[in-house]
Amino acid sequence: MSETRTTPQPSIHVLPPEVVERIAAGEVVERPASVVRELIENALDAGASSIRVEVKDGGMRLMRVADNGDGIPASELPLSVTTHATSKIARLTDLASLRTLGFRGEALASIAAMAELTICSAADASGGAHTLAQSADHEISVTRDARSRGTTVTVRDLFQNIPPRRATLRGSRAEGGRVLKVVRDYALIHPSVRLTLIVDGILRLQSTGADPTGAIRAVYGPDIARTRLAMGPHRVDSAELWGWIAPPSFSQPDRAHVLLAINGRPVSNSTLLAAVEKGYRPLLRRGRHPVVALQIRCEPAEIDVNVHPAKAEVLVRDERRLAAALREAVHNALAHAPIATRPEMPQTIGLYRRYDQPVLPLARRRRGVRLAEPHMRYAGARAMVDEPLPTRLPSLEALGQLDNALIVARSLHGHLYLVDQHRAHERLLYEAAQAAPAPGAASSRAQRLLEPLLIELTPRQEQILQTRVAELAELGMVCEPFGGTTFLVRALPVLPPEAIGAASFARELAVDACEDTDDWFDHVRISLACRAALRRGEALSTSDQQALLADLSAIDAYARCPHGSPIVVRYTKSALAKTFDW
Ligand code: ADP
Ligand code: MG
Repeated sequence: MSETRTTPQPSIHVLPPEVVERIAAGEVVERPASVVRELIENALDAGASSIRVEVKDGGMRLMRVADNGDGIPASELPLSVTTHATSKIARLTDLASLRTLGFRGEALASIAAMAELTICSAADASGGAHTLAQSADHEISVTRDARSRGTTVTVRDLFQNIPPRRATLRGSRAEGGRVLKVVRDYALIHPSVRLTLIVDGILRLQSTGADPTGAIRAVYGPDIARTRLAMGPHRVDSAELWGWIAPPSFSQPDRAHVLLAINGRPVSNSTLLAAVEKGYRPLLRRGRHPVVALQIRCEPAEIDVNVHPAKAEVLVRDERRLAAALREAVHNALAHAPIATRPEMPQTIGLYRRYDQPVLPLARRRRGVRLAEPHMRYAGARAMVDEPLPTRLPSLEALGQLDNALIVARSLHGHLYLVDQHRAHERLLYEAAQAAPAPGAASSRAQRLLEPLLIELTPRQEQILQTRVAELAELGMVCEPFGGTTFLVRALPVLPPEAIGAASFARELAVDACEDTDDWFDHVRISLACRAALRRGEALSTSDQQALLADLSAIDAYARCPHGSPIVVRYTKSALAKTFDW
């Protein structure tokens, strides 16, 4: 233990060989983002309350992470870059009570082997510090320096002397994007730590280090910070579950914003991530993914972090129970939320949604550059659509149709409503299908085809479909195996005559029915409702319009179609008055 330490921190020591052998070895330094991740974890382990990350050229030219944590005493600096030297565990059994993010003592040593590394650190508040540097031939020197308490690690020219590794890197935008994601994730997981990211001299992200709202606002902007739904904390045995989820209207085309952390570290556990997404069904359209940040805290002994070099994969002992709890918690949070009412205009999730967007310097951002986005230019227009819809659709008077697509209506109170006729009908058909089908109803729903259709499936799909033939028949789709991976479709659910070709319909249903999920039946019902519903472009008599509105006001879930898109937009009388300046 060094005499310069003010707090009784454990000193860095080399792990004994029998421990090293049992620690999942592997490459921790894959790309700039993995370096930044290791350095942020070290800063968090050192108890930092502020971490500043700076990168240049996507991190390939420079990465610098500065923290105000415990620091490393001068005498221990050389050990910090020694392989398998750590202050965090001493023996293998320590993993069962691990409270730190690091434990292998490998990161700094690996970085030192792949790049030019310097570490400037001060373990006390005297102002004196020491800097460790490496010469080209890997000779280490430690010299006096000055710094407030904490550590700055600087990494230059990653993989410079290892061309094959360098070749695996993408452009600076792509690498910078990954770095941004790492910083973003840790800012959301550790809202009480102030995280700053500077990319090529421009401030890209800065959390407040105060509360979750500040972190969310910094990462995703004010819309998500305001409308997110808080979740938990819920207890699941000895574990705890909490976080927030964004309304389905913020959905994204990929999983980049589905964040799950276990004991303070982002993990990619496919079972748990899938459970989160299941909680959103059927509010999310297929192929869309939510924006969420959820955390699990459990006893270190309940998980195994020693399975993946970058610790991204974590084995969880009680995975099924946790998955079920996650799914239910998400589902409940959505069910108890006020029904989302925003029309599907482009939702901003902060400036940081697209990594490849031109970056704006902070000064301009502060002056309100976000307002330049077209849908945000008119504050009045936003006010009109931001008010929550009532829990039930009131009784409405149809005024007419707009473009044979929207029913224009007014309520008794004089509010203006626009109702998407296709989605409204789709929702009604879906609700009707959810009511248990009467026994023997199959025949009335099915329409025998003059010529049976042959559909080709993959072996896996074929296997799944075999087991679901009876349930499909109940919906009106009669099919049977036809040898190999083909299926014969003999009858299809009855559809209005204008519905699109039987062959593509049969195939679509079959593919839905082969989905390897437990909510496949729901998907099939949604597809059916979508096919059978009134189209946009169909003229409706006033009494048909009125009937559709009446049916819609009789159900709870009137605001969104089964795919999750809005059905109803309302302009209240007062919002109209405000907009027109009456
Ligand atoms: P590990 O984190 O697995 O222990 P590292 O190679 O990342 O391994 O770091 C080696 C040691 O260096 C750590 O155990 C810790 O004692 C020290 N260290 C690294 N970074 C910091 C930091 N930012 N602040 C204080 N100590 C640090
Ligand atoms: Mg570490």
